[in-house]
Amino acid sequence: MVDAKRLDPMRTRSLSAVVISGVVVAACAAPAPSSFEWVDEPALETTPRNEPPPDDELEPSGVTDVTVPDPSAGGSSPSERTMANAAAPTAPVTAYLNGEGGTYFAGVDNAGQRISSVLSFYGRQSATAPPTGYQGATWRTLVDCVSEKFARYGVTITDRRPVGPYTEIVVTNAWGSSILGLSNAIGGIAPLGSCRVVPQAVGFVFQPVYDRPGYGGVAGACEAVAHELAHTLSLSHEQLATDLMSYAPANPAKRFQDANVACGVSAQAPEACTCGAATQNSHRQLLAMVGAPAPSGGPTTPGDTVPPVVSIASPANGASAPGNANVTVAVDATDETGLADVRLVWQQTQRALACDDSVQGVTCVVTGNRRTWTIFAGTGARSFYAYAVDGGGNTTSTPLVTISLTGAPPDAPPTVNVQLPVDRGALSRGATIDFQAAASDDRAVADVRAIWTFNGGTLEYPMAQTTTPGVYRATTTVSATATAGWRTVEVAVVDDGGNRTLSPKRWVYVQ
Ligand SMILES: [Zn+2]
Repeated sequence: MVDAKRLDPMRTRSLSAVVISGVVVAACAAPAPSSFEWVDEPALETTPRNEPPPDDELEPSGVTDVTVPDPSAGGSSPSERTMANAAAPTAPVTAYLNGEGGTYFAGVDNAGQRISSVLSFYGRQSATAPPTGYQGATWRTLVDCVSEKFARYGVTITDRRPVGPYTEIVVTNAWGSSILGLSNAIGGIAPLGSCRVVPQAVGFVFQPVYDRPGYGGVAGACEAVAHELAHTLSLSHEQLATDLMSYAPANPAKRFQDANVACGVSAQAPEACTCGAATQNSHRQLLAMVGAPAPSGGPTTPGDTVPPVVSIASPANGASAPGNANVTVAVDATDETGLADVRLVWQQTQRALACDDSVQGVTCVVTGNRRTWTIFAGTGARSFYAYAVDGGGNTTSTPLVTISLTGAPPDAPPTVNVQLPVDRGALSRGATIDFQAAASDDRAVADVRAIWTFNGGTLEYPMAQTTTPGVYRATTTVSATATAGWRTVEVAVVDDGGNRTLSPKRWVYVQ
C-alpha cells in the first residue's frame, strides 16, 4: 500500500542544516528521517484542486500516468488464467465518459456501483472527484474526439450513464494529488487488463494537468481518456510517438497504430506486454479484445422474429463439484430457422466461449442439439450462462447458474528484497537512480514496481526482470530542479493471484 503521507512544504523549507553520514547539506534540507515526524494528510482534500504541479519531480518532467493490476484476471487454475488471457474476441464495450464526478469506493471494479480498484491499490476507502470543468461545446468536443479514436473498434462512447455493464472514465477538474494523493505529474490512472478487458473498470483523468499551457487542453485530455480507457482494454504503454499508448506530447495524429512496438514508455522503462509477446500492436490487440464496430447490415433471416430456445441441461444451479478438475457444462439450443451462434459465458474469465477449441483449457463437442463444454477450473464459486442467436438476430439467454468448486490451492504472498538504492544514501540532482529488487512467489510474480515518494506525491516505476532470474530493475533520473530533501523508495510486488507485498521503506537524500 502506498502511504498517503507527505511533508508540509513550508515547514520543510524553514528547517536548518543537518549532517547526514558526514555530509553537510544545504540549509533548506529536511532533517534526517529518524528525527522527523511525517505529517499525516488529515483528509483527502488538502491540496487546492488547481494548485500547479511542483517542480520537484523525477524526469521525464512531462505527463505520466499509472496503471494498477487487473483486479479480477482469471480464475485460480492455470488453465482458467490461460483462458482469461487468450486473446479471443470478447463482447463489445460501452464506455461512459463521466463529466459529473462523484464519490467512488474501494473494491473490485464495478462502474455501475462506483467501485474502483484504483482506490484499493492506494488504500483509500473512498474518494470524491469533482466534475469536469469542460462545459457545453467544449465537453462535446472531448466526447467526439474520444469517439473518433475508438471508431474502428467495438467500443461505444457515451456521456450518459448507461444501463447495463459499462466501463467508466471519470474526467475530473482535480489534480491527482487532491483526490488520490498521486503526483501532480500524473495525468490519469486506470486498471491494466491482463490481456483481457477489465470488466466494468473505472479510470480517472485529471483535467488540470492538460489545461496547463503546452499540454494540449481538450485535445490532450481526449488522448488521456483514450489512453486510460485502452489500459482497461489490456493495452500496455508503447514508445511509438504517434500511438495513443505513448507518453509523447499531444498530437492530433495520435491513434492506435497497426505496428508491432516494444512495450514501455521508454527504453529505460521497459514493461512486459500484457499478452506476453515481445511487442504489442495496439490496433490489432484492440480488435482482438472488443472486435470491430457492429456491422450495419441487416439480419441474415429477416423474416424470423421467433427467438431461439436455449437451456443449461447440467450442472444444476447450486451444485457442488471437486475443484482443480474438469467441469462439464451441457447446453441444449434449437431454433425453427437455424442457429447463428451459441455461446457459453464463463463469468470468472468474462469469456463468451464458442463451441470450438480455440481457447486453451476449453474443449467442446456437438451432439444433436447439445453442446458440451469441458473446462478445467480452479476452486470457489463459478457462474455461467448460455445464449443463442438465430438468423433473424433474435437472442435468448439462460438464467445464470452458479456452482461451487471445493478445495483451496496454495497461494502465498510474494516476497521482496530491495537491493538498490542503498538505504539512507545521498543522490545529486540530475543523477541516475537505480531501483533493484529480488522478488519471488510460490506461483508467479505478476508485477514489480518501485514507488518513489516525495513531497508532491508518489511516482511508480515498473521494474523489468534482469538477466538474473528473480531480480528486477528500473532506472530513472532525478530532475535537475528537484528540491533537496528526503525521499522514500518502496518496492511493491503483486503475484498472479493478486497478493501484494510491499517492501520496507528505504530513504534517499536528494542534494
Ligand atoms: Zn498509461
